[in-house]
Amino acid sequence: MRIHNELIELRQKEKRITSEILNKLQEMEDGRRYLELGHPSLFGYLVRGLGYSEATAYQRQACVRLAKEIPEIKQKIDQGSLTLSAVTTAFKHLRKKPVAEKRKVLKIMENKSSREIKKMFLEPTPTLKIKKTEYVDKVHLRLELTHEQNQRLEKLKALKSHQHNVESLLVNLIEKELKAYKNTEFKVSKSKNPRQISKRLRNDVLKAADYKCQYPGCESKYFLQVDHILPVRNGGDQRRENLQVLCSSHNHHKG
Ligand SMILES: [Zn+2]
Repeated sequence: MRIHNELIELRQKEKRITSEILNKLQEMEDGRRYLELGHPSLFGYLVRGLGYSEATAYQRQACVRLAKEIPEIKQKIDQGSLTLSAVTTAFKHLRKKPVAEKRKVLKIMENKSSREIKKMFLEPTPTLKIKKTEYVDKVHLRLELTHEQNQRLEKLKALKSHQHNVESLLVNLIEKELKAYKNTEFKVSKSKNPRQISKRLRNDVLKAADYKCQYPGCESKYFLQVDHILPVRNGGDQRRENLQVLCSSHNHHKG
């Protein structure tokens, strides 16, 4: 059938183009060239610079990052034994694993259906259920633990033997956590470090920037940092007009 042959040919072309795009993206990522174009990340470039949907951009970025460590996956994508979505799943779940393990798992993933691959990464989700009921004078929490969670709680209770019941243990933990936060807040406000920008000023600068990176062309809302336009080491201070918002990539790029 002619139309079938035409589609087969187009499909071959599509594969070639996908692999060509991945190679070019790798180049873009290696030199972080997207920064000069005003994008905070390869992902941002894929979405705003090339018009990919966020889901597709995420897949492309995952492939590029994983192919950096394990170059042979590109060939496997070309051949069709690994799909982009399989590689994305591997990237997500194996992020912190050593390269040798990534390689091993990817080998197992070859020629598997997406359903089989999903199954490989199923993790039991920890269950800790709390049912909350509010009354005028008190709040009623009903806590449901697995036996294992309960054993851990009992262990903690035993270690803190002076707190002989769960109630006082819990109340003390809350107080301790709150105190730890209070201490860090206090330290920040008392700091005389010229690089330290007060919380209020920081919020002010962020608000004025509409919570977006102010690097020309970039509008990232993530990993925002308040930057000294004239660096502190060059005599810059923390007057309002010397401060701007940059995403961490552009702050790093600026150096
Ligand atoms: Zn930026």
